[in-house]
Amino acid sequence: MYRLNKSASTTWLALILAAAVLLCALVFMIVLGDSGRLALGPCIPGREGVAEGVSGGAKELLETPNFEASRKAKGDLEAGIVDERLVATLQDVTEEHRICVDTFKEGHHFLPGVKDGPFIPSGYGDAGGLPNTHYYGRAADIRRVDGKPVRGNGADSNVLDIGEILADLSPQRRPDQIIGPPSWTKTLDRSPREGWVLDADQLKLHEDHLHIGYMSNGETQNTR
Ligand SMILES: [Zn+2]
Repeated sequence: MYRLNKSASTTWLALILAAAVLLCALVFMIVLGDSGRLALGPCIPGREGVAEGVSGGAKELLETPNFEASRKAKGDLEAGIVDERLVATLQDVTEEHRICVDTFKEGHHFLPGVKDGPFIPSGYGDAGGLPNTHYYGRAADIRRVDGKPVRGNGADSNVLDIGEILADLSPQRRPDQIIGPPSWTKTLDRSPREGWVLDADQLKLHEDHLHIGYMSNGETQNTR
């Protein structure tokens, strides 16, 4: 009787182990995208040949391995929706860091269930009523830097360096709507004249991503 039970439980154990191995293999295949690099969540790295039919900076960005993006963000680049200055700025950033942009225009929303339009909805802190730079393809949300989530890493040296790269751009090339987590903003210690948004309510709303945007189609509002 004892022997019978023992062999039955061994069989069960073998079955459970086999199922676990299969499950692990499946997860591994899903997580490792077609590039072989670990693609966490919605971050798909750029690679040669993916931007067929796309031209200019958008094509270069889509083919940059350091530029990771969600499918929706890639779609906006392919469709030519993303502002050229923003594309150029992201190219500068990806020369030194691997970033993941999850939204430009498509799929962006300020409030859950509220469709984005030309203006920021009134429920979104004190910024309600201002033009929505995402709507015009003039803003990007960066969720990860060098594989690390922005959330909880605002004072991380790599995440801070994104701010330093932006600060080094000339006032007319630099975005004039730069928002990040409170710790990131505090450590960088930049001014609104340089494009940084310092309103406490906005920093609180950007604890998990860096937002870089251009307020208008024309000159930036940066004065230094
Ligand atoms: Zn944003």
